[in-house]
Amino acid sequence: MSQTRPQLAHLTATLNELKERGTYFKLRVLDGEQGPVSIYDGREVINLASNNYLGLCDHPKLKEAALKATEQYGVGSGAVRTIAGTMKIHLELEEKIAAFKNVEACVVFQSGFTANAGTVSSILGKEDFILSDELNHASIIDGARLSRAKIKVFRHKDVAHCEELLKEVQNEPGHKLVITDGVFSMDGDIGPVDKLADLAEKYGAIMMVDDAHASGVLGRNGRGSVDHFHCHGRVDVQVGTLSKAIGALGGYVCGSRDLIEYLYHRARPFLFSTSHPPSVAATCIAAFDLLESEPERIERLWENTRYFKQQLTSAGFDVGGKTTPASETPITPIIIGEGKLTMEFSKALFEAGLLATGIAFPTVPEGKARVRTIVSSEHTKAQLDRALEILTGTAKRMGIL
Ligand SMILES: *Cc1c(COP(=O)(O)O)cnc(C)c1O
Repeated sequence: MSQTRPQLAHLTATLNELKERGTYFKLRVLDGEQGPVSIYDGREVINLASNNYLGLCDHPKLKEAALKATEQYGVGSGAVRTIAGTMKIHLELEEKIAAFKNVEACVVFQSGFTANAGTVSSILGKEDFILSDELNHASIIDGARLSRAKIKVFRHKDVAHCEELLKEVQNEPGHKLVITDGVFSMDGDIGPVDKLADLAEKYGAIMMVDDAHASGVLGRNGRGSVDHFHCHGRVDVQVGTLSKAIGALGGYVCGSRDLIEYLYHRARPFLFSTSHPPSVAATCIAAFDLLESEPERIERLWENTRYFKQQLTSAGFDVGGKTTPASETPITPIIIGEGKLTMEFSKALFEAGLLATGIAFPTVPEGKARVRTIVSSEHTKAQLDRALEILTGTAKRMGIL
């Protein structure tokens, strides 16, 4: 019998609505390691759904680092960073990231989500203005709301629109923040970081970039979008994640020493939530070593990206660029349009041996539902070819192609 009491009946009603719309989902359960081929719900599938861009989730050197740190330092840090939970290994990771990113300082958060939300909400206040791309990540939106600053949303990648909005608030006393994703997670396109940095400079605004999907993917050795656009020294706040290409968990903020020390004092997730277990910090240190020592992983990632996109395009799929932004990264959406059909397509792909996430409204605009694919450096050509066979076969059967 259901344990839902009448107090929560409205939740059940919403779930029923989702079921009717065909966008209700169950969690797929991974049994074993996150890899190019994985076992979900007891079925072996080619995995085009994870953010494990460089195959680091199960890399032997990262596992070894985690085990060694656990042996040496235990499993938990025991406190928030500001009380008693700052371990040497946390600082070692932060120094490593700062050097990698060519900035003065870095602070690590529990996740990319908390890094964004904690930073945006603490560096701005009621009198300030946030100029945010309409497709920016939810954690930026939440951070913006928590800051109570006035939020001005510019059209996706529309630098001229951003300038219009900046002009409107130019003479207001508050601080202005221009913020964009480095790589947009649903369409795989790259934010105009260089042009927005120009604008920020022109109007005296703070410039911030969220590089969750760009870290380990764009720029020299995966240094991110700021490196990709040669914008060193022109972006005040760089956020990255340790949860995607880096293969573990966490987020970080890079910038000036004062920015980082300010976050020590004001960013609420830093102040009120316990720091990483030492094993996670050790894992990430090993991952940054690998970005430098095995750059061929990133080359393989881009080779696979080019191959897979080109094959999808010649098969006749809409991979974006018509009614949606054009992907420029390993994230390749297959635009279907209707939410329900998209979810059914994703389900049929799974049954045929391919995991590719169906994404519908409200995560993407109504009518622009898609199956999102993400290749990794570790997919073999044979696996990608098999994935293409499954995609085209299933799409033809369902009248999508
Ligand atoms: C995934 C993602 C985040 C959140 O990172 P986590 O480390 O998973 O919390 C933030 N911003 C963007 C653009 C993302 O894609």
